[in-house]
Amino acid sequence: MKRVYLDYSATTPLSPDVLKEMTPYFTEHFGNANSMHAFGQEGAYAVDAARRKIADLLGVKPTEIYFTSGGTESDNWALKGGASAYGSKGKHIITSKIEHAAIISSCAQLEQEGYKVTYLPCDDKGIVRPEYLEEVIDDQTSVVSVMLANNEIGTIQPIKELCEIAHRHGAIFHTDAVQAIGSIPVDVNDLGVDMMSFSGHKFYGPKGIGVLYVKSGIKPDKLIAGGHQERTRRGGTTNVPSVVGISKALEDALANLDKNYKHIKELRDYFVEEVEKNIPHVVYNGDRVKRLPQNANFAFEFIEGESLLLTLDLNGIACSSGSACSSGSLEPSHVLLATGLPVEKAHGSIRFSFGKDTTKEDVDYVLDNLIKAVNKLRNMSPLYAEFIGGKK
Ligand code: PLP
Repeated sequence: MKRVYLDYSATTPLSPDVLKEMTPYFTEHFGNANSMHAFGQEGAYAVDAARRKIADLLGVKPTEIYFTSGGTESDNWALKGGASAYGSKGKHIITSKIEHAAIISSCAQLEQEGYKVTYLPCDDKGIVRPEYLEEVIDDQTSVVSVMLANNEIGTIQPIKELCEIAHRHGAIFHTDAVQAIGSIPVDVNDLGVDMMSFSGHKFYGPKGIGVLYVKSGIKPDKLIAGGHQERTRRGGTTNVPSVVGISKALEDALANLDKNYKHIKELRDYFVEEVEKNIPHVVYNGDRVKRLPQNANFAFEFIEGESLLLTLDLNGIACSSGSACSSGSLEPSHVLLATGLPVEKAHGSIRFSFGKDTTKEDVDYVLDNLIKAVNKLRNMSPLYAEFIGGKK
């Protein structure tokens, strides 16, 4: 059976070139990068080089790059470390209703510790408009965190404007760029953000490694206490192979950004056009323009997203439903609900995310199976029968 992976926003395969650069650091250069001897210094040298490479690629200083265990840790550190370091200004944190669980859960913990958290709404396309922030920010606001691009519906947020508002009110600004880095151009300096999270496994690098960019002068409190790693800011023996891996993956992703963007967007646009042409009663969730190239998210009316996901899976096709088993919860997606999509449509939503290795043949295979699966499930759906009956 043919297998097609359209879940690149969940994770990407490790690039063979990245694996090749990482391999020696598992085996011959295995030293602890904090050890003084030559074995350790081989690791330390590789970590320094990787940090410099990432800094150069982003146009920032090596001392502004901190390695973490991934996007989740970077988000936790920025939010909790930022809130505790800057809490003396005020205990008001602002984020949005459409953030990843790493931010939403960190905020929930902060609320339990006595912080006030305001969750900004989004419009019906999933955009967090600057005026929403302007309305609620006050002189007690110490940290604002809004994601650069959403993981479910791919909307790209007006980060530069949001950041300017935060700064005008003396608050620091963090952005979760996990879905954006390697996929669209990101100019950290132009955005003006104080902290930015990203993660290796979203751009063909290894899992379990991420970065928190922290602008010079900004000092979030420590999240992970331990040894002297990361200039004493983040304890834990440095994951040298993965540090080497994320720097190589970022280098390759940025070198091929235009080519991959064009290829992925072309296939995604073709897919969206064909779905809308061939399947009635679908809602294309998110914004058509301010959107990541890899993301297509549809609500298929009258059916459950999970049933569709499993039917496609039986045909070798991998995609994701915002609610669902995949995320360990049967609640409808908080992102789709925030856009105002009714619960039943949110339940029928599926995300397809495309990658650099996706082909037109893959997309045609998915379209063919998707059209059949939607027809089959609708024919079994009492809601659809009622709808059709009502129209007769
Ligand atoms: N933030 C966003 C927007 C994500 O999409 C993800 C992963 O899906 C994360 C954070 C978490 O990153 P990680 O898997 O590296 O912990």
